[in-house]
Amino acid sequence: MTVHIGVVGTGMIGRDHIRRLTDVVAGAEVVAVTDVDAELAREAAAGVGARALPTGQDVIDDPGVDAVVVTSWGPTHAEYVLAAIAAGKYVFCEKPLATTAADCLRIVEAEQASGRRLVQVGFMRRYDVGYQEMKQALSGLGPVLLMHCAHRNPSVPTEYHSDMAIQDTAVHEIDIIRWLLDEEIATAQVVVPKQTTRKFEHLRDPQVMLFDTESGVRIDLEVFVNCQYGYDVRHETVCEAGAVRLPDPGLLHSWKQRFGAAFDTEFTEWVSSVQAGNLVGPTAWDGYAVAVTSDATVEARRTGKTVSVRLKDRPAFYGS
Ligand code: NAP
Repeated sequence: MTVHIGVVGTGMIGRDHIRRLTDVVAGAEVVAVTDVDAELAREAAAGVGARALPTGQDVIDDPGVDAVVVTSWGPTHAEYVLAAIAAGKYVFCEKPLATTAADCLRIVEAEQASGRRLVQVGFMRRYDVGYQEMKQALSGLGPVLLMHCAHRNPSVPTEYHSDMAIQDTAVHEIDIIRWLLDEEIATAQVVVPKQTTRKFEHLRDPQVMLFDTESGVRIDLEVFVNCQYGYDVRHETVCEAGAVRLPDPGLLHSWKQRFGAAFDTEFTEWVSSVQAGNLVGPTAWDGYAVAVTSDATVEARRTGKTVSVRLKDRPAFYGS
C-alpha cells in the first residue's frame, strides 16, 4: 500500500524530506504540500507532481492525504499536530513537537483520547548507526556512570541566541541521552566557560550543560556553535566495565552530511510503520519530556542554579 503524504512547510528540511520520501523511501508518495510562502510551495509541489494547497489545515483535511509531515516553523507545530490527531491521521512532526511543554502535553492528551498512537517526533539521532551500536554495547558493560558529549557547529546566524543552544541544539542530546539510558534526566545546570571571541552579544558560546539522571548518571555536554572548523558531534559513555564512544566520521561541515543516512532510515521506518498501522519511533511523550528538560535547562542557564526536571507521570499508553 502506498502511503499518500501531505507536507506542511516546504522550507529547508521540508524540501529535503520531500526529496527523501520521493527518491529514497519505498511505498511513499508526496501528494500535497503547503507553505506560507505560496511560491515556495508551488515549486516544491511541481518538482514531485504534488498539489500545492493554501493552508496546513487544507493539507490535513484533504481526503487524498493518508499521513502528514509537519516541517513548518516550530511555533506552528502544535496546531498542525493537533489537527492531524483530530482528523485521525498519522503525523510525523520535526522537532520541536511544540514550543511549550504545555502544548506538548495537550498533544499527549489528545493522542491518548484518540485511543491509538498517531504522532512521531523527528529525533533522528536514534536512527544513527553509531548511537544504535552504542546502545547495544551498553547492555554488556554494566551500570552506566558518566557520559561526555559535545555538539559543535561551524557557525550559526547572528539571530541565534543563548537559549537556542538549548532549545534548538541540545534537545537532540537530551533525547538521545534519555533513549540510551532508558531513564529521564532529573536535574540540569549550565556553566559558561571561557568564551570564543566570535560569540555575539546575545550568545554565550561555548556553554557546558551538566545533567544528572534519576539513577545518578552524570552527563556533561559541551555546546559550541561557532567552533569554525566543522560539524562535530561526540559522545562517550563510561560504564563500570568499559567505555564506548561514537566512531569518528572525519571532518564534516553540516548536520545534513552527518545525519543524512539517519534521516533516510527514520523515514523508511516511519512509512513502514504507517503501512503496518503500528508506530514505533519517538513518541509525543518523548517530545513532552524533552520540552520539560529543555525548559529546566534554560532556567538553569538564566539563574545559574541547578534546576529539577519535573515531569508528569508517564502514561501507560506510552509503555514503560
Ligand atoms: P525553514 O527553512 O524556515 O522552513 C520552515 C518553512 O515553514 C518556511 O518556508 C516557513 O515560511 C514555513 N512556514 C511558517 N509558518 C507556516 C505555516 N503556518 N504553514 C505552512 N508553512 C509555514 O526552517 P527549517 O530549517 O526547514 O526547519 C523547519 C523545522 O524543522 C523546525 O522546527 C526545525 O527545528 C526542524 N529541523 C530539524 C532538524 C533535525 O535535525 N531534525 C534540522 C533542521 C530543522 P517562512 O519562511 O515564510 O516563515
